[in-house]
Amino acid sequence: LWITIEGGDGAGKTTQSTLLEDWLQSQGRNVVRTREPGGTEVGNLIRNIVLHHRGDVAPRAEALLYAADRAHHIETLVRPALSRGDVVIQDRYLDSSVAYQGAGRVLDSNEVRDLSLWAADGALPDVTVLLDLDPAHARKRLDADDKPFDRLEAEDLDFHTRVRAAFLALAEAEPERFLVLDAALPASELAAVVRHRVSTLIGD
Ligand code: C5P
Ligand code: MG
Repeated sequence: LWITIEGGDGAGKTTQSTLLEDWLQSQGRNVVRTREPGGTEVGNLIRNIVLHHRGDVAPRAEALLYAADRAHHIETLVRPALSRGDVVIQDRYLDSSVAYQGAGRVLDSNEVRDLSLWAADGALPDVTVLLDLDPAHARKRLDADDKPFDRLEAEDLDFHTRVRAAFLALAEAEPERFLVLDAALPASELAAVVRHRVSTLIGD
């Protein structure tokens, strides 16, 4: 079973990934929790480039770097874990590229999606949890968190508004794959809805 968690910065993806992992482990499942960019050693090198040279990497180059991270991640980590029968919980996947590199950087969304699908040899998750949050709300949350490296600051509100709209459009186009949640709800409530969906997929 392969679960991806998507949403803007500050939506609570890490919190939900952790809560889901804890629950699945308590059910006796082997879980691999991973992320993009940076789920592998090579991926972390790429993560360094895309996060620390943001703004001076050309948009198409950025899209290719994310795709390279993805290709390596899927082939060397995700597919082997799924073949073993492990549950994979993945923080961000190709929907993030369509939203950030496509809508955010204003590249053609279909081209970005095709590039990602080529990179991942067509692999799509069983379910994608979209944590939907108004970027202004996310801004307040991240300010309150007092994080040393604030990612939201790298782009303006317009950018994050486009990213949010792109995620919602993706979810509308593939309603069977997506579970869209209002990320303003308490984390425990969101976790319960996610658990419910995952347990129907596991068949318990
Ligand atoms: O999810 P995480 O906080 O690790 O993402 C790091 C940053 O990379 C985020 O600020 C996000 O905006 C950016 N990102 C991106 N394109 C992606 C994935 C992440 O711009 N495909
Ligand atoms: Mg996070």
